[in-house]
Amino acid sequence: MTINQPLVAGNWKMHKNIRETREFLHSLIKLLRPPLPCEVAIFPPFTSLPAAAEILTDSGIALGAQNVHWEPTGAFTGEISPLFLVELGCRYCIIGHSERRLLFGETDEICNRKIKAAQSAGLRPILCCGETLEERNAHQTIEILRRQLEKGLKGITSADLDIAYEPVWAIGTGHTATPDQAAEIHNWIHLWLRSRFDDAADHIRVLYGGSVKPENAMALIRQTGVDGLLVGGASLDVNTFSIIVNSFKEGQSVFS
Ligand code: PEP
Repeated sequence: MTINQPLVAGNWKMHKNIRETREFLHSLIKLLRPPLPCEVAIFPPFTSLPAAAEILTDSGIALGAQNVHWEPTGAFTGEISPLFLVELGCRYCIIGHSERRLLFGETDEICNRKIKAAQSAGLRPILCCGETLEERNAHQTIEILRRQLEKGLKGITSADLDIAYEPVWAIGTGHTATPDQAAEIHNWIHLWLRSRFDDAADHIRVLYGGSVKPENAMALIRQTGVDGLLVGGASLDVNTFSIIVNSFKEGQSVFS
């Protein structure tokens, strides 16, 4: 398991059919020649996971799912079991993305159940947290993050997880957190994780997400406490995404 490296995760959301997935991944493998400068994981839609798994075998690029159900099996029409994701070769699963929270009513309690189910199945969850613009303007950022982390990680003892700080106002908007804003929050999250998981917190990465582009990736990853990037829109173009990944060749990450 690679947890001593920064992670760049590409969240495709509801984009790319099977053909587009194949084309993208074949190109990505050609563009990212080993050794990779950091860990790379791709999160395609569920329907593209089998094709992606086949292509990514032995590539060094990991696969993840954008969502998961909290039970391993049962009468849950339309849902996907964490066991099925592991069977497909997924290593990661995004949990609590702001789009799921805002559009699909995902609560901190639901995120908590999903994290437990994901870990039990052998997936490494990436818990997304972040404040809205109204909350930031009302100086509630820390309060919101504390609530999302406390409730989302309630009862979780395994540090086999990562966190993504994704300010909602930065997702898909073109407004990125400044490197200083990201550093301040990431350092707060790391302190919180240390108080919660002790030394095991060293193995939990805190990724930044929100309008990451080749132009801002380097400045973000140079910040203390930024252990990787969760990339949405800019992960859909293979050249753009590989430039972001290659930022790690020069952009000294402090994660060790
Ligand atoms: C995301 O969806 O997790 C995300 C960060 O999106 P974008 O990079 O497009 O802001």
